[in-house]
Amino acid sequence: LFAGEWQFVWASPSIETLPPMASVEVAFAGRSNVGKSSLINALTGRSALARTSHTPGRTQELIFFEGPDNAGLRLVDMPGYGYASAPKTKVASWTKLIHQFLLGRATLARVYVLIDARHGIKDVDQDVLKTLDKSAVSYQVVMTKADQVKPAELQKHIEETTAALAKHPAAFPEVLVTSSKNGTGMPELRAAMVRLLGE
Ligand code: GDP
Repeated sequence: LFAGEWQFVWASPSIETLPPMASVEVAFAGRSNVGKSSLINALTGRSALARTSHTPGRTQELIFFEGPDNAGLRLVDMPGYGYASAPKTKVASWTKLIHQFLLGRATLARVYVLIDARHGIKDVDQDVLKTLDKSAVSYQVVMTKADQVKPAELQKHIEETTAALAKHPAAFPEVLVTSSKNGTGMPELRAAMVRLLGE
C-alpha cells in the first residue's frame, strides 16, 4: 500500500464540496507547524505531496490524498489550527468545518491528532480533543519531531499527554511517537492504517 504512488485527489474549503464518501479515510489534525505535511509526505514517500506550510493562515481546506490502485485508503489533511494571531472568526470557522466533517463522515475511520514533541499538549489541542469526543470517530495522538527532543523531555511530554488523554474516553490511550526526519514510528503508523483497511 505505501510502496505505490499516492496522489492528490480533492481539496474542499467547505462541507458542501466534499468528495463522495468512498474507501476508508484517515485524517490528520494538528496545530499549524506541528509537522503535519511532513508526516504525510514521509508516510507516503512523496516529498512534496502535502505542501509544507511556511505561511501561517493559508486557505482552510480539507485535502484528500488517495493510495495506489484502488487500495481503498485515503488520507485527509485537515487545516492546521492554533495560530496565536488567528482572529476569533477564523477559529470559529475551523471548528465548524471540522465538527461538521467529523459528524457526517461515515467513511472516516480514524483521526490522528499531532502534537509537537518539543511543546507537548496545549490547551488548543485539548479543545480539539473535546470536539473529537463529540463525534463518533476514534482518534489517537501522534507526537511529531521526536528527533528534536532529548529522551527525558520526550518522556515528560508523553506522560503529560497520556494523563490528559485519560480524560477523553474516545481517545486511544497510547501515544505514537514519530519523526518524519529519521523515520521513527513510520512503520507503526503505516501498519495501524493497514489494519484499519481490514476492519
Ligand atoms: P505543518 O504546518 O503542520 O504542515 O508543518 P510542516 O510539515 O510544514 O513542518 C513545519 C516545520 O517543522 C518544517 O520546517 C519542517 O521541516 C519541520 N519538521 C516537520 N517534521 C519534522 C520532524 O520530524 N523532525 C524535524 N527535525 N523537523 C520537522
